[in-house]
Amino acid sequence: MRNKLSAKSVAVIGGGPAGLMAAEVLIQGGVQVDLYDAMPSVGRKFLMAGKGGMNITHSEPMDPFLSRYGARRAQIKPLLDTFGPEALREWVHNLGIATFVGTSGRVFPADMKAAPLLRAWLHRLREAGVNFHMRHRWCGWNENGALRFATPQGEHTANVDAVVLALGGGSWAQLGSDGAWVPLLAQRGIPVVPFQPANCGFDVGWSEYFSSRFAGHPVKAVTVTFTDAAGRFHHRQGDLMVTATGVEGGLIYALSALLRDEIAATGAAVIYLDLTPGKNLPRIIAEIAHPRGSRSMASHLQSRASIKGVKTGLLRELVPPSDFANPEHLAASIKSLPLRLIAPRPLDEAISSAGGVAFEALDECLMVRAMPGVFCAGEMLDWEAPTGGYLLTACFTSGRTAGLGALAHLEYGNI
Ligand SMILES: Cc1cc2nc3c(=O)[nH]c(=O)nc-3n(C[C@H](O)[C@H](O)[C@H](O)COP(=O)(O)OP(=O)(O)OC[C@H]3O[C@@H](n4cnc5c(N)ncnc54)[C@H](O)[C@@H]3O)c2cc1C
Repeated sequence: MRNKLSAKSVAVIGGGPAGLMAAEVLIQGGVQVDLYDAMPSVGRKFLMAGKGGMNITHSEPMDPFLSRYGARRAQIKPLLDTFGPEALREWVHNLGIATFVGTSGRVFPADMKAAPLLRAWLHRLREAGVNFHMRHRWCGWNENGALRFATPQGEHTANVDAVVLALGGGSWAQLGSDGAWVPLLAQRGIPVVPFQPANCGFDVGWSEYFSSRFAGHPVKAVTVTFTDAAGRFHHRQGDLMVTATGVEGGLIYALSALLRDEIAATGAAVIYLDLTPGKNLPRIIAEIAHPRGSRSMASHLQSRASIKGVKTGLLRELVPPSDFANPEHLAASIKSLPLRLIAPRPLDEAISSAGGVAFEALDECLMVRAMPGVFCAGEMLDWEAPTGGYLLTACFTSGRTAGLGALAHLEYGNI
């Protein structure tokens, strides 16, 4: 393949995990690769993902793994069949980075950071011959079909044999993925599903008192239950975080697609918190009914039911004052505290975005059917998944599929 393709040149636009993976398979395939990014450096969101302990993938069996992609399971499955979580881990190891499986089944780089991995990877890509062009903002195509870039030196154009677009989703615009590419593709008739926040927090509308007192406090070891529009019951245990306006954190992100859709359909989504998952309702009733003497209700709840701090704050915020005098009512709230979510937080604050280029516009190599030689990969495609390594896995594997697809296209034309 190398000889035949060495005269061909491919542009990869977007230097996140999807674009870098496309660049890697392209350079290995023997073509000339130019990688463009609007930002002064690549991989900014990837590095941000590494700040909170990056999950690169997940160790659970393939069936539950695939279920995380929900409605897009059928489109993601063939990508993961060729380069799935195990292959990704192997690839990370080949970069000299060890991984480990956390108690949750999530797979982390040994030091939980993204920077050493990115550094090693960029070194390998440069050595292999990938040309990096930073501060090159892609602005579409000119009338001759050349790629147009805005650069600090003025407009730059590039004629290439194929292009992989890996421009990211629509959240955290300050890291580069600002979604400004949407009209550039829409003008070409490529269907793009509007972005929505995914893995996002939600507004509750706290009182001024509660917000000022508890914003930033984690609510540890609770369970959340939610019944979705189809009547399915969801039950998860973990931690959530109180924010100035509502709630966020892993427990909430895991349900965020369902909660977002429920709010869109009905105007609100009600979740139920169990503040003491280890103790059943009769036990909590008995504990609270215990005479409290001269102790305050706060110290009574702390000593009898281990409810304190932000958990007490939540009860005070959400339970009618009269229920505090009734052990059965108060215990029922402790075991099933309704929390009404009224809006997802804005797209830019979300960990990831739903929406993007519709799979129906793409072939199995992720080439835009209506624009032969143009491929798309990563979060800019219309899929979503919870946090836990599923996002990066799909970005890596789709970048690889798009890069291999571009090689096949250059070698065999439209097949
Ligand atoms: C705080 C945070 C934590 C996260 N933690 C995890 C985690 O632990 N595990 C996980 O799986 N995922 C995590 N993610 C999500 C993950 O980082 C993203 O899904 C992933 O980076 C998307 O990869 P991508 O290559 O598709 O796009 P991006 O990484 O967004 O890269 C897109 C690139 O395209 C460039 N670009 C955009 N428009 C243009 C243009 N017009 N011209 C030129 N360049 C352009 C951007 O500058 C950017 O460099 C996290 C995200 C955030 C924000």
